[in-house]
Amino acid sequence: MRYDVVIVGGAIVGSSVAYYLREEGFTGSIALIERDPQFAHAATTLSCASIRQQFSIPENIRLSQFTLGLFRRLEQEFGPDADIGFRENGYLILASEEGLPVLQANHAVQAGEGADIVLEDAATLKRRFSWLSDEGIVAGAFGRSGEGWFDAHAMLGLLRKALRTKSVDLVTASAVGIERAGNRVTAVSLGNGERLEAGTIINAAGPNAGVVAAMAGIELPVEPRKRNVFVFEARERFSDMPLLVDPTGIYVRPEGSVYITGGAESEEGETAADPQDFDPAWPLFEEAIWPVLATRIPAFEAIKATRAWAGHYDYNTLDQNAVIGPHPEVGNFIFANGFSGHGLQQAPAVGKALAELLVHGGYRSIDCSAFGYERIAEGRAFRELNVI
Ligand SMILES: Cc1cc2nc3c(=O)[nH]c(=O)nc-3n(C[C@H](O)[C@H](O)[C@H](O)COP(=O)(O)OP(=O)(O)OC[C@H]3O[C@@H](n4cnc5c(N)ncnc54)[C@H](O)[C@@H]3O)c2cc1C
Repeated sequence: MRYDVVIVGGAIVGSSVAYYLREEGFTGSIALIERDPQFAHAATTLSCASIRQQFSIPENIRLSQFTLGLFRRLEQEFGPDADIGFRENGYLILASEEGLPVLQANHAVQAGEGADIVLEDAATLKRRFSWLSDEGIVAGAFGRSGEGWFDAHAMLGLLRKALRTKSVDLVTASAVGIERAGNRVTAVSLGNGERLEAGTIINAAGPNAGVVAAMAGIELPVEPRKRNVFVFEARERFSDMPLLVDPTGIYVRPEGSVYITGGAESEEGETAADPQDFDPAWPLFEEAIWPVLATRIPAFEAIKATRAWAGHYDYNTLDQNAVIGPHPEVGNFIFANGFSGHGLQQAPAVGKALAELLVHGGYRSIDCSAFGYERIAEGRAFRELNVI
């Protein structure tokens, strides 16, 4: 079989690329290869499914803003029944005295991009959110609109359903090898023995992207990093509660009738996760999360985690930012990788950008050149400071 485009990885990023290729008028053949069609282990379905404007660099804000625009016109795009349960409750990122300069600098960048974020001192925040303790904090940045959370399964479902009507071949198989002829990739071999010749190969393999790049003899510093999410119940319901990020990095937000929390992993000295390990690290809740939550929100003094899961970040070890676009030498191998905890909200934007690149030969709506692989080759970090 020969395809004009073969995409390895069919979760939110791969599906978005395929979707926008068709939206952009691409008429060539497309294969979307996925080894886990229930997405039991995809970062997409194990994520916290939140979207924010509160990044430290304008390029990341622009990617999220594109996706936000899609959320706002979901029904026009996917039909009147399209619903991803978007809860626009905002993010509240808190700062201690020490963290204040960074919060202020980030806020200035966000304001420059038109994001609806207010920077408030601790007393004002306490008046806004009666349940909040201001112990150890001096200020916080709150997203009044354009931030919140949604149903990742529903978003992925909308894209995958649309692909079925757009003549995209959904292939259930593992990509196990990539062939190269000089500076071109030419084919993907599958675990079932099949071989797909390819005009262009797009790496959308999430936490496994480093392994897929290596199949083509290309080094990509993206590896799985385990992240634990805990679910707990509380008597009190705070309907105005945003996704709160404590200065310690611990976050919490409502999820229907319960709450979810995480952010206890320390990145210092952390190495790649075992790709098969999805067992939650339960001690983190008692040891690292609960003490922080009980201080920050006194009503959470008596909580207990009732459930937990672990997923893998698609972690870019160079600078915790996405790698987007073609390899500078192997120009028909394209990256959509390394989102490091913010890829769900960036996926539609990246799909659109890469579709423009392939169809029109350049970025039009969203310039992703700053995310290019060139910086990886040069070891030049393009760092995002707000990795949550
Ligand atoms: C706990 C947690 C919380 C998160 N919270 C958020 C959040 O709030 N907001 C946000 O924006 N992002 C969040 N993220 C990050 C986000 O989930 C990811 O960045 C995003 O889902 C990446 O999408 P993807 O399609 O590239 O990767 P994935 O969803 O992992 O999909 C990659 C797919 O490729 C397939 N694949 C891999 N290798 C092969 C192969 N060789 N052959 C065939 N198929 C292959 C896999 O089976 C998988 O389905 C979170 C992640 C985690 C783990």
